[in-house]
Formats: sequence, structure tokens, C-alpha cells
Amino acid sequence: MPPTLPPLTPGTLYLVATPIGNLEDITLRALRVLRECDVVAAEDTRRTGQLLRHLDLSKPLLSCFHFNEARRSEDIIGRLRRGERVALVTDAGSPGISDPGERVVKATLAAGLRVEPVPGPCALVAALTASGLPTNEFHFIGFLPHKSGARRRKLEESKETAGTLVFYESPYRVEKLLGELAEVFPERPVTLARELTKKFEEFLRGRPAELLERARQRPWKGEFVVLVGPVDTPCFGPAPAEP
Ligand code: SAM
Repeated sequence: MPPTLPPLTPGTLYLVATPIGNLEDITLRALRVLRECDVVAAEDTRRTGQLLRHLDLSKPLLSCFHFNEARRSEDIIGRLRRGERVALVTDAGSPGISDPGERVVKATLAAGLRVEPVPGPCALVAALTASGLPTNEFHFIGFLPHKSGARRRKLEESKETAGTLVFYESPYRVEKLLGELAEVFPERPVTLARELTKKFEEFLRGRPAELLERARQRPWKGEFVVLVGPVDTPCFGPAPAEP
């Protein structure tokens, strides 16, 4: 007989991590929370609706995205006060990591209510653990600003930061980022983690200039995490040959 699991706690905000590509990456606990909660607050209700249908679940959905997060927090707090169990999900991965979540969490805690993480996929962790770069100390930068001057300043400041640096980057700017890394961190080892957990997942490792050259030969598509190792760490590149 499987153990009887305790029911969800009334008045709790559950932060539920969802797959970053591979739909098998949903935990048993995430499934249970999504099944038993009263409402799912979602970054994009259409996308989450598709995920729920895939999981054979049907739940009331509330939208909670960057521009309505502050207002929506009040609604969520009202529901929690009435004893509802609210699951917060984003389009992919862990809420609050370069995604909505932080504001709702702060507002929930400020109201004296309970927040519980339901951990699971996160591109940052998946990329870091397989990067071949130090994992004992790292600094998550996430997305750099779009403007060139501000990007450059942030990169220059990061020279002083210990451990592996982790960036999120859009496919449209990954070549630009490699060019910037070649100037600011020419000798450091870089790992590009592309399309994690998906069919075309690949890890490209090398110095920034080598990877830039590769990117110019074959522009890469998809989603990327870019990791920069500290000075004097081994570089496992150059990147493998094209198939
Ligand atoms: N909350 C998410 C998490 O836990 O990783 C991150 C959301 S953020 C809006 C999206 C960015 O995460 C992408 O631009 C990319 O840098 C990274 N990312 C998400 N999924 C990825 C994947 N499957 N492979 C590589 N990078 C990914």
C-alpha cells in the first residue's frame, strides 16, 4: 500500500516548478499539488492550460505575469486568507527565477501567510551541474540589460565576482554575448547549454572566441544558458565537431 500523503495545507501558496522542455520532468509532488490545489496562478494561462491537459488535469486558472503581478498578489492573498491552496507556475522551470514569483512571495509573507516550494526543473541548475565548471560557488546573473553600455558595465563588474557566472540569454543575442565575453573574459572557459532536456540538447564548451567562431559558422537556435568559469579552471573545449 502506498503511504497516505497529508492533504495540502489550507492558506498556502505553492511554488510549483514545471518542465523546461521535457514533459517527463514533472515531479510526483508537483502533480499532486496541481491536482489538489484550488486554483493555479499562471504566467500564461494558455500555456499552462496545455500542460494541465497533457497531465489530464483541469483547474481554474488565474493569470499572474510580470505586469499584473503586484495587483494579482492582492487577489492571491485574499484567496489564501479564505483558506484556498494556490499553486503558482510559470511557463517553464522554477517560479521566481527570471520569472514572476518574487513579488507574490514577498506579499504573501508580508501578509503572514505560508509559502511552500515544490522544487523541480530549473535551467540554471541543469546547466550548471553538467557544465564541467565549478559548482561549489556560482553567481546567477540571469538576463543582462539590453543596452550595450549597461551590459558592458555589468560584465566588467562581474570580473570581481568569485565562482562560475551564469547568464540566461535569448537566441537573438547569444552571438553578441559571446563577442562581449571574448573581450571581457578572453581566457575563461565558457559552456553554452542549449535546449536543455529537449531533443537537440547540446553543451558547447570552449574559450569565448572559439565559441563565437562556431556561432558565426552556424547560428544556433533555441534556448541558452551561458556559463563562464573562474580564471584558471580547466576548459573542456573546443566544442565537438558538427554531426
Ligand atoms: N524560470 C525558468 C527557470 O527556472 O530556469 C527560467 C525562465 S526565463 C524567462 C527563460 C530563460 O531560461 C531562457 O531564455 C533561457 O536562457 C533559460 N532556459 C529556459 N529553458 C531552457 C532550456 N530548455 N534550455 C536552455 N535554457 C533554457
